Amino acid sequence: MLVTMKEILDHANTENYGVAAPNFFCEVDARAALEAAEDLNAPIILDISYKNSMDIIFTGSYVLRLAEQAKVPVALNLDHGQNLTHAVTAIRAGFTSMMIDRSMLDFEENVRQVKKLVEIAHSVDMSVEAELGHVGKGERYQSKDCGKLTDPEDAKRFVEQTGVDCLAVSIGTAHGSYQGEPRIDFERLSRIKERVAVPLVIHGASGTGRDKLAEACRLGINKVNINNDLLQAAYEEIIAHDMSGNGAYGLWKHLKNGYKQRLMEYIQLFGGAGKAWQSNQHGLIRKEISLVE
Ligand SMILES: [Zn+2]
Repeated sequence: MLVTMKEILDHANTENYGVAAPNFFCEVDARAALEAAEDLNAPIILDISYKNSMDIIFTGSYVLRLAEQAKVPVALNLDHGQNLTHAVTAIRAGFTSMMIDRSMLDFEENVRQVKKLVEIAHSVDMSVEAELGHVGKGERYQSKDCGKLTDPEDAKRFVEQTGVDCLAVSIGTAHGSYQGEPRIDFERLSRIKERVAVPLVIHGASGTGRDKLAEACRLGINKVNINNDLLQAAYEEIIAHDMSGNGAYGLWKHLKNGYKQRLMEYIQLFGGAGKAWQSNQHGLIRKEISLVE
């Protein structure tokens, strides 16, 4: 069933667990993500970024149908939207939420731009995620200018002034694979959680480590964005099989299995398994990929 991200994250915030938010690219990984959620009876948030989508309106047209058919709560979220064009495109694509990432701007300008788009999104019942502080890239993790940690007092003011439904915080994670060992500031997370009532989000979960992610969810992270680790798992599954000759017909199946299995591990780790609430939907229509013969 298709729901707003707010509905999913408010539930997670009340019950203190994390919802997996895998990035997807096409029908194959979207189906893998929905199946993983259904198999574990977990709510899920499908994230797709504007810049990584080939055609976000077209993608929305089919993922929306899959989400409506799913027997667990599903939200479709535009990841790292940046401006009015992205926001309106997400609305046209039928998404139920959008991230407006203006975290590279100073506080006042971030507030000003996000607040304006929150008003538009809320007028069509879409949830909004924004980011304060800045989550950098893992490949630059060792450099001093990789990201900026979230100030707890600023986080409180930002949520009050913008009216966002959830907040992405910077506590030491980074996008993509890390150069060096990730250092997560749990004390900072606790201080943010004490001050901010809306659900909290982390980006850049891949490579952070199972124990650290579990601890982050225990301390109040409610949405965990994950991408690279799922792609790595898909790749590992593909190369574990003989892809020569007709073996190549198994490409999409192996990709889907690898992605799905790793995502299931993460859903369980974040505490989302068994947390889906009642729906009378009939479940995702499954079709095994079989192109051989
Ligand atoms: Zn991100």
